[in-house]
Amino acid sequence: MKEIRKKSNCRLCGSKTLKKCIDLGNSPLANQFLSSVKKSKKYTLKVVKCLACNHLQLSHVVNPKILFSKYLFVSGTSKTNLNHFKKYAKECSLRFLKRKSKILDIASNDGSFLKFFNKKDVRVGIDPAKNILSNLKSTGCYLENKFFDYKESERLKKKYGKFNLVTANNVCAHVDDLSNFVKGVKNLLEINGVFIFEVGYFNEVYKNKTFDTIYHEHLDYHLFEPLIKFFEKFNLVIFDVKNIFIQGGSLRVYVCHKDKQPIKKINLKRIIKIEKKINYSNQKIFSYYQKFIEKKKKELLSKINFLKNKNYKIAGYGASAKSTTFLNFFMIDSKKIEFIADLNKLKQFKFTPGSNIRILPPSEIYRKKINYIIILSWNFSKEIIIQNIKFMKRGGKFIIPFPKIITVNFNNYKKILKILCQ
Ligand SMILES: [Zn+2]
Repeated sequence: MKEIRKKSNCRLCGSKTLKKCIDLGNSPLANQFLSSVKKSKKYTLKVVKCLACNHLQLSHVVNPKILFSKYLFVSGTSKTNLNHFKKYAKECSLRFLKRKSKILDIASNDGSFLKFFNKKDVRVGIDPAKNILSNLKSTGCYLENKFFDYKESERLKKKYGKFNLVTANNVCAHVDDLSNFVKGVKNLLEINGVFIFEVGYFNEVYKNKTFDTIYHEHLDYHLFEPLIKFFEKFNLVIFDVKNIFIQGGSLRVYVCHKDKQPIKKINLKRIIKIEKKINYSNQKIFSYYQKFIEKKKKELLSKINFLKNKNYKIAGYGASAKSTTFLNFFMIDSKKIEFIADLNKLKQFKFTPGSNIRILPPSEIYRKKINYIIILSWNFSKEIIIQNIKFMKRGGKFIIPFPKIITVNFNNYKKILKILCQ
């Protein structure tokens, strides 16, 4: 496969009528953090919409071998993620599992989710990244260092048999051949088994204008309605859906075999109604969206320039994949901010792709006497602010860029934390 290729049809329904919606120009690959300052290759970053089913996807697909071989996001580093996985695993166990069940977690990352299931369950994790999978061994889970697809499902079926629960969190939007992937899941699902996946919800990206969740690894920007028809093609049925307030807003979707008898559908209508109200078939809403983010760029840059002119030192917090899109589109580089603080040791002392900003441990905020911190991992704003009250106590301020730019200081942080909780 070439480095990048144009996707000419809808990943869900196959239609070839795709229309441009959001254009972020050319952007470097979001997770390719560098060991030294150098130029990063940039690739087209555009979202198109299928006029037949309203599904949104990237116009171009970067070769997954380039994208995913060295994945530096470790789910276990964030407390918010761990709490989320703990509650999620509990819900799965109570609703769908009996004693000694078999669970497969696709794209299991470091096993942060699987480790919350009962140790008596057979827990299998599959993930293509070698550097993080080794952490899973200590949890008593089985691990498979592979990409998941239909062919791989055949091998797993021979080795483990079918599963009572298959989960895939934050991975479905990364898969180019989603039909093949879902065929693989169906192949491994017990007759009464349940497939649950969490996926970024475009409705939130739209509402909160969080365009930075758009990057090459996220091939799809899911709405709920197009997914219903998509699963029907495989004789699978969605029977429940929930809004999840993680990763900037996700959907948790519950799927089972169509011939499983009888299953009560819940929550579906509520979400469909919300999407109908926004009216995603209206092309105009996307031109407003594009204008809004251009405006936000001007607003934030003028704030940074204003602070720089006053000789304030500015840092960022959270070298997430999102930050790559954010920094690139807003043209923020090492001339504008000193460094980016991040707790992830795998990222520390590396440089951000494209913008070449140094990533350092959060202790540097104090050592370098930083005055302002732009929170780039805004979905963890609450956690970051609470961990750095000392910073605000000595006069430091946080800037949260989404949904609107707010400045947080020692006097107002309690009030703002309350808003962030909602
Ligand atoms: Zn479509």
